[in-house]
Amino acid sequence: MSRTLADARRWMQEGTELLVHATTHLDEAAYDAPSLLPGWSRKHLVAHVAANADALANLVHWAATGTPTPIYASPEERATGIREGGRQPGSRLTEWLRLSSDNLEKAMDELNETQWASRVLTAQGRTVAATEIPWLRSREVWVHAVDLGSGIDFTALPTDFLTALCDDIVTKRRGATSPEVILRPTDMPARWYLPGSPGEGGTAVTVMGPLTEIAAYLAGRPHGATTAEGVTVPAQPAWL
Ligand code: ZN
Repeated sequence: MSRTLADARRWMQEGTELLVHATTHLDEAAYDAPSLLPGWSRKHLVAHVAANADALANLVHWAATGTPTPIYASPEERATGIREGGRQPGSRLTEWLRLSSDNLEKAMDELNETQWASRVLTAQGRTVAATEIPWLRSREVWVHAVDLGSGIDFTALPTDFLTALCDDIVTKRRGATSPEVILRPTDMPARWYLPGSPGEGGTAVTVMGPLTEIAAYLAGRPHGATTAEGVTVPAQPAWL
């Protein structure tokens, strides 16, 4: 994995800008319309991304002070935030997204090298260095910008970010898939491998397509990838 802290911070800033900009074009009816995530309106989605910035700011606070600060006070807090967000006016949600993202950015600006290296606990219960926080935020803003369903698709995402995203999902999914899959982008030399049980014919299935489609496929989003064998593309669970 070759991504750096500077990469992740740049991705986080660019993705935030894109997402905030997209929400400013939503009127109340468009905000109430479904997102691409099952059961979530765009309001639910934006409330989730705004709350995520507040949650990640808790981790930055932890890194800055050394005082353990849980990302969410409880799992219920996360669910309640999304549900209540769905009932707020769209303009308020855009403002919350903007403010929480700015606060997170500013809190990160204050961290020194030692604080960046300190350990914090993610929502999934993984202990990571604080340098992972901008990466976690990059994934949220970029992938959910696509989920907003307002015309942003994976082709809007930076190539180096998409490569890092594929690395990340493949690492997390290792051992959790069936059948085994080889991922072969048609527009770059990268290859990824998801171990699992062999598919029809006793071999791994090779999933091909542009990097944008490989990333969309791995993220469990609508995609245009195909297989080299001409068989159905094995489904991937939705991620994030
Ligand atoms: Zn999310």
